Amino acid sequence: MLEQKLKEVIRDVPDFPQPGIIFKDITPILKDAHLCTEIVEAFAEQVKDLKIDVVAGIESRGFLFGLMLANKLNIPFVPIRKQGKLPAKTISESYKLEYGQATIEIHDDAFAEGTHVLIHDDLLATGGTVVAASKLIEKLGGKVAGFSFVINLEFLKGEGRLHRFSENVISLVK
Ligand code: 5GP
Repeated sequence: MLEQKLKEVIRDVPDFPQPGIIFKDITPILKDAHLCTEIVEAFAEQVKDLKIDVVAGIESRGFLFGLMLANKLNIPFVPIRKQGKLPAKTISESYKLEYGQATIEIHDDAFAEGTHVLIHDDLLATGGTVVAASKLIEKLGGKVAGFSFVINLEFLKGEGRLHRFSENVISLVK
C-alpha cells in the first residue's frame, strides 16, 4: 500500500533545521520514478471529484509533485514563492513562524477571478504556510478548491485551520 511504502522511504533527519526538530526528508522518494508516478496518480484519483482549474504549489518542495499533478490533470501550475523571488508584479502575505515571520508571494496575474485552486505542498505542519497561501488565492478572487500534501503531521493539528477555506484536505501519509 502506498502509505506504507512512503513511510518506509521518507527519511527522518534529527536536529534539522534546528536541534530538537525531526525533519521529514522526502528527497529519497524522488529517486524512485515509479513511486513518484504512483504519488501523482494517487493525488489525481483523490481530487477527481473536485472542481480544480489550477494547482498552486508552494516553494520549493511543493513544486515537485504540484507541477507533476497539474500536468497529469492537464491544467496550469502556479508557483507561490518566498518574498523577492517572483519576477513580475506580486501580492504578498506574511505569517508567523515559531521564531519571527515569513512572507510568500504570487504573481498578481496568476489566474482569473473565480478560478478554483488546489493548494499543494509536500508537508502540512501547523498550517501557517497554507493559510497564508489561501489568503493569497482569495485576494486574487480565487476559490480554494482543496489542499493536497504528501505528509500531514496530524499531531500539530494544522488541518483544522484549513477548513474555513476548504473542507477538502488530502494527504497520502499521516
Ligand atoms: P507549516 O506552515 O504547516 O507549519 O509548515 C509547513 C511548511 O514547512 C511546508 O512548506 C513544508 O515544506 C515545511 N516543513 C516543515 N517541517 C517539515 C519537515 O519535517 N519536512 C519537510 N519536508 N518539510 C517541512
